[in-house]
Amino acid sequence: MREFSAIEAIVAQQAVQRADVICGIGDDAAILAVRTDAQLVVAMDTLVAGVHYPLDTELADVGYKLLAVNLSDLAAMGAEPAWATLAMSWPFIDEGGLRAFMSGFYRLAQVHNVQLIGGDTTQSQVPAFTVQVQGWIPTTSRPLLRSGARAGDLIYVSGTLGDAALALRLMGLKESWIEPLELDALHCLKQRLNRPTPRVELGRALRDVASSCIDVSDGLLADLGHILHRSGMGGIINLDRLPYSSAFLNAITTGLPRVDERHVHLLDTVTPAQVLALTGGDDYELCFTAPVHVATQIADISAQIDVPIALIGEITAEPGMQIRAPGGNLKSVNPSGYEHF
Ligand code: ADP
Ligand code: MG
Repeated sequence: MREFSAIEAIVAQQAVQRADVICGIGDDAAILAVRTDAQLVVAMDTLVAGVHYPLDTELADVGYKLLAVNLSDLAAMGAEPAWATLAMSWPFIDEGGLRAFMSGFYRLAQVHNVQLIGGDTTQSQVPAFTVQVQGWIPTTSRPLLRSGARAGDLIYVSGTLGDAALALRLMGLKESWIEPLELDALHCLKQRLNRPTPRVELGRALRDVASSCIDVSDGLLADLGHILHRSGMGGIINLDRLPYSSAFLNAITTGLPRVDERHVHLLDTVTPAQVLALTGGDDYELCFTAPVHVATQIADISAQIDVPIALIGEITAEPGMQIRAPGGNLKSVNPSGYEHF
């Protein structure tokens, strides 16, 4: 497929048409009507084949996840998404593959009323995709930064942890290991890896409620570590409060694959399942902090938008991260997550 027919196909497949897009795909640049009552929030994320997803991942899932990880960054700021641009590089463009990719992308775009307003299409040896998303935070609201955590704040996380990391491990294993698993559980875990749910509604609801926020892309310890670092605070995580999905609990009854070498040192305090929840990336849940006096407000938000929120720990004035075992013993840990270099 040639470059220009690919762009035509991308345009033809799009359903979202926003009134604030004066000029979308097709000219040299997009023209957008900007708001005066809000601040513009911009984020960008890339997925590279073989680095960010296994090479045999369905293209519809790659397209979906590409937008999801970007919207997750807007969610973590408390922003309302509006537009996206898409740079794609492929060795060659296959019509069916492009359609599948865009179907995944557009499916999620429609849920959040995000319009694709431009991009770039180039050739490369390895498929690689970059999206930039733009969204809004009303000027009357406080944005959700990583730097706002204060001593005594409680630490929360949405949804469940470790699912995506467990899915990735399971996919690398022999059939004999996976066979005893309930198919439902395996499917749920794979969905969590390939089609993460960006917590856009939650992020917006947490504006002016939470004191700090981050999305969990590299693992809870690593991402909470960013909050602690930027806030100049420490934190304690209660091991027995980590939230698990029933699929996760079902899958680990058959035993767990080997713990990554970087995290073996944790095993004298925590179980292999807890290691996955603490260090597994790709869950795209929100980890946030909030003062004690808004605890009931957070419970209300959780009920209203139907997203479980777990209270997992507290912020301390003394720097460093610790985990509290069910008996009450504290152990210092290093916030280690995935790093590219
Ligand atoms: P130029 O050569 O002026 O940079 P292009 O031929 O690259 O323009 O792009 C033409 C139009 O198609 C532009 O509006 C551009 O934003 C859009 N476009 C190109 N590639 C993509 C893509 N992968 N996704 C969305 N829009 C794209
Ligand atoms: Mg161009």
